[in-house]
Amino acid sequence: MNTLKIENLTVSINNKVILKNFNLIINSGEIHVLMGVNGIGKSTLTKVIMGDPNYKIEKGYIYYNDKLINDLTVDERSRLGIFLGMQLPLEIEGVTNADFLRSALSIRQKENFKLFDFIKELDKNVESLHMKSDMIHRGINQGFSGGERKKNEILQMYMLKPSFVMLDEIDSGLDVDNLKIVGESIMKYYKEYNPCILLITHYERLLDYIKPTHVHIMSDGKIIKTGGFELVKEIEEKGFQNISLKKVVSTSECAIKEKIKNE
Ligand code: ADP
Ligand code: MG
Repeated sequence: MNTLKIENLTVSINNKVILKNFNLIINSGEIHVLMGVNGIGKSTLTKVIMGDPNYKIEKGYIYYNDKLINDLTVDERSRLGIFLGMQLPLEIEGVTNADFLRSALSIRQKENFKLFDFIKELDKNVESLHMKSDMIHRGINQGFSGGERKKNEILQMYMLKPSFVMLDEIDSGLDVDNLKIVGESIMKYYKEYNPCILLITHYERLLDYIKPTHVHIMSDGKIIKTGGFELVKEIEEKGFQNISLKKVVSTSECAIKEKIKNE
């Protein structure tokens, strides 16, 4: 069982506070969807969890499996099993997709790393994601379309096998056919590896494939409402401004209820 726990997290960038006393708990097997208007801090949350040094933790704690990770590097967090599929994946010149994945995995697996198995698995995943086979030998995301970049994030997820997966607007830039491929791939990964998932999306379309266990609305630096899938429908119908906030449930309450339900 893996658990991400965020306690009273306040984060700023360039002296502007973005997250304020933010709290969230995600366990293995849970799919949390985070929604909220543009610029509210959703991507900031994912980058802070991943360890982007541009963001400053003013106070609060991020734990992964009871280990405080506030001061770990991106690489150290990645080795703990934390993964971020970014909203805007970067282009990296001079390092091919295959080289990057091979070195990341050989460092982790050490003497257990087998080149033949690696190539076999990479080919299998490229095929099941319907990616062009030459893409793995090109610079990371170099000349990739928006949709191809998103699929490349999913390829990395399949190769690195994280236990905590964050996907930031993975559906943006995907056409209907590719949205289906990506949505089904994420669900397949979920069923096979039982990870913790944090999903950021604006659209119900992606949720045709991925069924969230928790839906959160973020406003003013924190989660202001938590519910189930019905909350997505409500947002889609009414927009964020008109959502009823009467039945506000804090995430810790939610976690306690879940725990009781499961016992
Ligand atoms: P969301 O993903 O919810 O749309 P973001 O987390 O990307 O929002 O951004 C939250 C806020 O932080 C926005 O107001 C954005 O302009 C600001 N922000 C993000 N990165 C920087 C930066 N490098 N410098 C200054 N402000 C930033
Ligand atoms: Mg964003």
